[in-house]
Amino acid sequence: MSNAPATAKQIILKTPPEIEIMQRANQIVAGALNMLREKAIVGISTSQLDVWAEEYARQHDAVPAFKGYHGFPGSLCVSLNEQVVHGIPSPKVFLAEGDIVSIDFGVCYKGFYGDAAATFAIGKIDTKKADLLKVTRESLYKGIAQARVGNRIDDIAVAVQTHVEQHGYSVVKQFVGHGIGTSLHEGPEVPNYSSDNKSTPRIMAGMVLAIEPMVNLGTYEVKVLKDGWTVVTRDKSPSAHFEHSVAVTESGPLILSDGIR
Ligand code: MG
Repeated sequence: MSNAPATAKQIILKTPPEIEIMQRANQIVAGALNMLREKAIVGISTSQLDVWAEEYARQHDAVPAFKGYHGFPGSLCVSLNEQVVHGIPSPKVFLAEGDIVSIDFGVCYKGFYGDAAATFAIGKIDTKKADLLKVTRESLYKGIAQARVGNRIDDIAVAVQTHVEQHGYSVVKQFVGHGIGTSLHEGPEVPNYSSDNKSTPRIMAGMVLAIEPMVNLGTYEVKVLKDGWTVVTRDKSPSAHFEHSVAVTESGPLILSDGIR
């Protein structure tokens, strides 16, 4: 789940044993997303996906992290097509051929959070949407590669933004990635656009960052629907979202939610 920038939250470094627990939390998230990818087919309601995700978490001794978070009603954020993030699961919304669906899932396991997201194709999608998914996923890995000791948070943002804009797409600015640990959202904020601010925090070993490019086919501008949650593109163009939780180690970035197909 992405964060709306607000007051600065504390940056809390994690010990290696804590990172190990966070890896287990994130592997539950990755496992759930892989399960959902198989089950997300034409005719399935978005609330059915939500039920399956919650069951999966509880079967793995974890608790869905988003349910009740600032009043969010679901375990999953399910965002279709022009929806960017934070779509609310519904028994009245069914997956259709040609849709793209962004699924964001988080759990709490032994007091630590995991958070990851991926955008799936439902049936056959057009080449524009397919390329949007490819570029957004690539931009996530470009960002992750910069999550190295001595870099700044802005280096992640520059890597994501540069890759996205080279392909003619735009990054969402209104929502950002975040530190993660014993809270779902900790410091630092991890934007997907350069702030042109060289004073963004230095990246340190022990940071765990949820890096999550939200990429629009058209304008970067988004708005929140009347439900108070669902973020959509202003021009109704499709949007994609990929997220990993990544630990910064002395030897480089460690993708805790690795293995999402
Ligand atoms: Mg997140």
